[in-house]
Amino acid sequence: MDKCQKVQCSVGSCMFNEFSENLCNLDCIQVSASAKSDSGAPYDETLCSSYKPHEQKK
Ligand code: SF4
Repeated sequence: MDKCQKVQCSVGSCMFNEFSENLCNLDCIQVSASAKSDSGAPYDETLCSSYKPHEQKK
């Protein structure tokens, strides 16, 4: 069974973000452990590896 997953994201500096709709427009993303992954806090443990800043859009 195909599953259609939606990623809500508010990272406005990412080229894949539809900021006005709070959505990622990629079909899938890679989420990885962050370099500081030892505190148990979400902002230390996880990050979106699919992120690309608007400057790389060219
Ligand atoms: S690629 Fe990652 S950071 Fe960029 S919009 Fe999608 S979920 Fe957000």
